[in-house]
Amino acid sequence: MSLADPTPAGRFGEFGGLFVPETLVPACQELEGAFRDAWSDDTFRAELDQLLRDYAGRPSPVTECRRLSEELGCRLLLKREDLNHTGSHKINNVLGQALLARRMGKTRLVAETGAGQHGVATATAAALLGLECVVYMGEVDMRRQELNVFRMRLLGAEVRSATSGSRTLKDAINEAMRDWVATVETTHYCLGSVMGPHPYPWLVRELQTVIGREARRQCAERLGGDGLPDVVTACVGGGSNAIGIFSGFARTRVELVGVEPAGGAAIGRGVPGVVHGMKSYLMQDEWGQVLEAHSVSAGLDYPGVGPEHSHLAAAGLARYEQVTDAEVIEAFQVLSRTEGIIPALEPAHAIAWVLRAAPQLQGATVLVNLSGRGDKDVAQMMDLLG
Ligand SMILES: *Cc1c(COP(=O)(O)O)cnc(C)c1O
Repeated sequence: MSLADPTPAGRFGEFGGLFVPETLVPACQELEGAFRDAWSDDTFRAELDQLLRDYAGRPSPVTECRRLSEELGCRLLLKREDLNHTGSHKINNVLGQALLARRMGKTRLVAETGAGQHGVATATAAALLGLECVVYMGEVDMRRQELNVFRMRLLGAEVRSATSGSRTLKDAINEAMRDWVATVETTHYCLGSVMGPHPYPWLVRELQTVIGREARRQCAERLGGDGLPDVVTACVGGGSNAIGIFSGFARTRVELVGVEPAGGAAIGRGVPGVVHGMKSYLMQDEWGQVLEAHSVSAGLDYPGVGPEHSHLAAAGLARYEQVTDAEVIEAFQVLSRTEGIIPALEPAHAIAWVLRAAPQLQGATVLVNLSGRGDKDVAQMMDLLG
């Protein structure tokens, strides 16, 4: 009852793979071997479970949205990843990778970050385990997200600006990979989503399956009948929170719906291409240059998407929808007003899709992965709403 593993070459259908400079192939292979070993080791799993419980605050609850359900005519449930330490699902991934790095004898983490959320999470895990931490961030993003830059520095991380290209997330990824090539003896690259070269899309997915395992159990306890919701939905940037919750409901009757921002819809508007070590759907121009993504939510400003989502879309195993910034801003306010939960702008995409699709969801049970809390977005919303 879970998602299929990639092929030995790291493929999900035609997507995925390992498109990296030759110098990085051994590092990716070492990482795959180390993770395979750790993931089947009860001691590693127990240590991770303990951190997830005592440090991150898991299990995260499932909340029934009584007022909004009544308004919409469907039964709306939220998986509350917003209640985790550091405010999102990202902590699940970084705790696992930081433990893995230590197990591999590495003393230093490098990471990329766009809006700063993955950088903050990585710096947090590094502080916890006493690892050195360097976070690459586009120069433009550093100016836009100065609070997160300060947070990372408070946590003891060094933030380095990526000054090439558009000086945003995709350039930060390139610089982090360059750092890793040069320092692989001592350094683990802590990638932030289910993307990049094999084994990352699989490794990050496995670390996020905790969301789906918990949610499956919580639905079984709460719902009658077969214990399944009718629809499970999540926002998709790189796709890690979505694949995490989807994994708990794969190969069941549940409809899986990923929601992309209209301005960063790699699946909805992209074509297959190779970027950042993987083959996946990608927004690019007619010359194959990677396009900038634009969305009200900085955390979804990624022009690509994890390869497994490309595969699920191409195989018809999940459906992908797009919502506009205006719909997201509305959804952000609706959930705040009706349930007393201010969502991050990223999961507000999934809420926005539910609001739009409500006429077709009458009587259905819908589980939304509420991937993060909205504190980080309040100042931006104040500017937008005046
Ligand atoms: C980073 C982030 C996302 C996007 O990342 P995925 O890998 O697509 O999950 C979504 N929601 C929140 C709250 C985030 O911080």
